[in-house]
Amino acid sequence: MERRTVEEVGAILDVGELGRRGALAFGANGTLAFGDGPTVDFQTDRDHLHLGGQVINIASVACGCFGVRACWRCPGCQQRARRLYLPPGETQFLCRACHGLAYASQHEGPGDRAVRKAGKALDRLGPPDGSVRDMGRRLRAMRPIFQAILAELGGIEQGGR
Ligand SMILES: [Zn+2]
Repeated sequence: MERRTVEEVGAILDVGELGRRGALAFGANGTLAFGDGPTVDFQTDRDHLHLGGQVINIASVACGCFGVRACWRCPGCQQRARRLYLPPGETQFLCRACHGLAYASQHEGPGDRAVRKAGKALDRLGPPDGSVRDMGRRLRAMRPIFQAILAELGGIEQGGR
């Protein structure tokens, strides 16, 4: 069965975008429009976004030395997520995993791409033999890859996707 992709979901709740629009501030309220779909009333209290009939927990994540950053706590699995999705025909905003959404391969998320890249690089190195020499070889080989991933993730956190 072909999985739906995130690109096919019009209604996406992006914590970064809402934060920039001030919608996550305590006491904020208004309506949100999702593509061509209906507008939904929302109201924000200290830790929750009340959206239509759904209450979504807003979690904070410590973020380096720059304080905290908001993210959703997925109502389905309680995992933190930057984005929640409402696929057509569904009634709840849930994370990508809970809705079983895939990224279309050519449009996969930068985080996914980075993790896939690191996995491939590790595969190329073969199984570890436990020696210090082998550990050094691994660290040297992975360093540029991890640096690239960090750069990529830095871009995500600043700009969203
Ligand atoms: Zn979930």
